[in-house]
Order: sequence, then C-alpha cells, then structure tokens
Amino acid sequence: MTDIAKNLRDLQQQIAQMARQHGRDPAQIQLLAVSKTKPAADIRAAFAAGQRQFGENYLQEALEKISALADLAIEWHYIGRIQSNKTRPIAEHFAWVHGLDSLKHAQRLSEQRPDSLPPLNLCLQVNLSGEASKGGVAPEQLLALAQAIAPLPRLHLRGLMTLPAAETDFARQRQPFRRLAELKQELCAQGLALDCLSMGMSADMEAAIAEGSSILRIGTALFGERDRA
Ligand SMILES: *Cc1c(COP(=O)(O)O)cnc(C)c1O
Repeated sequence: MTDIAKNLRDLQQQIAQMARQHGRDPAQIQLLAVSKTKPAADIRAAFAAGQRQFGENYLQEALEKISALADLAIEWHYIGRIQSNKTRPIAEHFAWVHGLDSLKHAQRLSEQRPDSLPPLNLCLQVNLSGEASKGGVAPEQLLALAQAIAPLPRLHLRGLMTLPAAETDFARQRQPFRRLAELKQELCAQGLALDCLSMGMSADMEAAIAEGSSILRIGTALFGERDRA
C-alpha cells in the first residue's frame, strides 16, 4: 500500500472515531483532499484508494492537474482566493467554490457557469478573526451577502466556510467553529437552505467535527508536508 493510501485509510478511521466520540454520524462528514503543490501522481494514488473530492488553491496549477487527470471522475473544489479577472475558468472547471466573499464574484460566476453543467456549489467564507489578510465577509455583512447571492441562477449556495488563525488549544480551536455553526443556524432561520459547514484542517479537525463540520479540508495529514505554502 502506498503512503497516501495508508494515510487515507488512517484518516477515514480517525474521522469516524472522532465523529462517534462527539455524537456525530460519520456519514455526515466529507473529506476534501487538499492537493495544492502536490503532483498529479499523488492525486491518482488517493483516487485509486477511493478518494473522489479534491481541493486546489492556485488556479493555474489546478487547471494543469484537472487537464492531466481528465480521465478520472474527480469532483474539483476551488478553495483559494478568487481574482475578478479569473472567475471564468473557475466557473467552467470546478464543482464547488469555498472562499467566496463578494457579490461581484458571485455574479460573474453565475453568468459564466456553463448551462451544460450543474449549478456551482458555493460556501461563503466568513472572517471570524478580523485578520485582513485572511479574506472572508465580516459576520455583520453575511446575511445581506447570502440573501443577494442565493437567488442568482446557475449557483447553489450550500453553506459557510472559515479559515481560523492557527491555535493549538482544543477549547480555543472550537470557538470559531462554534460561531460559524451559529451563523449558519441564523441564516437558516432567515429562510436560507444551507446544509454545509466547510471547516477543519489537518491540525484542528477534531474541534471542527465536534462543532458540526460537514466538509473537512485536509492536506498535510493525507499528502504530507508541503514544500511551499
Ligand atoms: C491548505 C489549505 C487547507 C489544508 O491545510 P492542511 O493544514 O494541510 O490540512 C485547507 N483549507 C484551505 C483554505 C487551505 O488553503
């Protein structure tokens, strides 16, 4: 068994165990394999071991891998920062976008999503740390943004995503994830049909599972350390 296949199996077992520990159904938690900076061969190895959802951050790198791996039935998720002049390839080549935080980008994705594809699934990124470098909409602006995006054609607003500041203490790791779960409930109470919380990475997946994560975005624990960010 390759390392990646073994890592994947170990991760699946850990996730299932953590889910049960926190009273969650493991079937409600999806593993998104974050393959940024990793070669297409690593993605093939994970695919061969059963992984189908992959996340990429850098558009040019992602497009090269999508083309090299076109023979595989992969569901591609774009999890990087969105640039206004690069929305078209995102609309054309991905099934999901995590990290959307602007109405203008949503309008462009809506216009550029090909009719031949199903609606593009979206998670709105919420900035809970106040760090300007992180991107994401402020919690106070979230409802208005979600209400503006939800009716756009060719898009399917699925939920919320966050990328908290690194934190090692378990109780503190849980705080932003709990806040994101509360924000999702508030939006649902306003009539928005959201079913996803994209939260949790290699170092904080248990905290995210405990707070209701439905999509874990995992890179390092599956593919090993990255040479560059
Ligand atoms: C890189 C990245 C991840 C994965 O992080 P790991 O710590 O390697 O698991 C998850 N989400 C986003 C947005 C990322 O950029």
